[in-house]
Amino acid sequence: MNEVRALHDHPWFRLVIHFLLLAAFVLSALSLALRPGKILGTCGVAATLLAALLGGSQATALVPDPTPIFFGLDFFVLNVLFTGLLFIPVERIFPQWPEQHVFRDEWREDLFYYLVSSMLVQVLTFLTFLPAKSILAIAPLESLRAWVGALPFIVQFVAIMFLTDLVQYWLHRAFHRVPWLWNFHAVHHSARSMDWMAGARMHFLEILALRGTTVIPMFVLGFSATAMNSYIFVVYLYSTFVHANLNWRFPFIEAMLVTPRFHHWHHGIEDEAVDVNFAVHFPILDRLFGTYYFPKDKWPSGYGVQGHPVPRGYWAQLKYPFKRRPDDASSPS
Ligand SMILES: [Zn+2]
Ligand SMILES: [Zn+2]
Repeated sequence: MNEVRALHDHPWFRLVIHFLLLAAFVLSALSLALRPGKILGTCGVAATLLAALLGGSQATALVPDPTPIFFGLDFFVLNVLFTGLLFIPVERIFPQWPEQHVFRDEWREDLFYYLVSSMLVQVLTFLTFLPAKSILAIAPLESLRAWVGALPFIVQFVAIMFLTDLVQYWLHRAFHRVPWLWNFHAVHHSARSMDWMAGARMHFLEILALRGTTVIPMFVLGFSATAMNSYIFVVYLYSTFVHANLNWRFPFIEAMLVTPRFHHWHHGIEDEAVDVNFAVHFPILDRLFGTYYFPKDKWPSGYGVQGHPVPRGYWAQLKYPFKRRPDDASSPS
């Protein structure tokens, strides 16, 4: 990423890389010595040696002037490190499901979802900004845009949160109720463990639909770049948070804001958990539209889609909605 490339010239950057590589090697060797399973340790040692062969902390770019098109591999690493460092310790200290490990069943699949959406961050931005720009070319909304852009930051931020939640409530509901849309969304619901990685599992076309319906209106309505970027950052952390394996209770807040327990009920395997709690931020939308389900102090007994129709693995899940099926019994309703 060009934004990250600027960091490469800082002297401490090379030093940090150097120590990271050393630490990676030592920790991998330790893992090899202590763990019964040797796969992680071997991969760690191999990756560190490969990095050293490629130049280690002194590595330089192969070409001085790369193309403007990039895959955000560094974004993925930063993303996983930042989110993981934030959530893993908290999930270990306050787990709702203490027996669930960090490397639980299907963690590789969900990490791969992280990788894909991080790598394609630029493509996604391009795909959503292009239609927004063409809408503006046809309908210049100068006065409205100027008024929205001049509102105080906090007003813009809350307005974005509320408007996007309202739009996404209905989009989310459509993804549940329209059988062919459900086949896309079933991928998100196929996660059988809830934690900070589970929320990343989402069909690529659903990510596009969600991004499009939020970024395009935000852009067209003229919200400031600061408000939009803050929202994108917060919604990313927020959606990670509501999937997290956290037993935190929020007695007063949970009536106003979506909490992990609220969204966990959206993923519940129980009959009562089917087609409820569509809101991402404000549970009041579910109260208003009759889809609110939040039994006091209770958690769902398990997660996933009844009958578990969705196959395992990223590529099988990518193809899943396009499969011909004899009947649409996979719909939840
Ligand atoms: Zn859903
Ligand atoms: Zn979810």
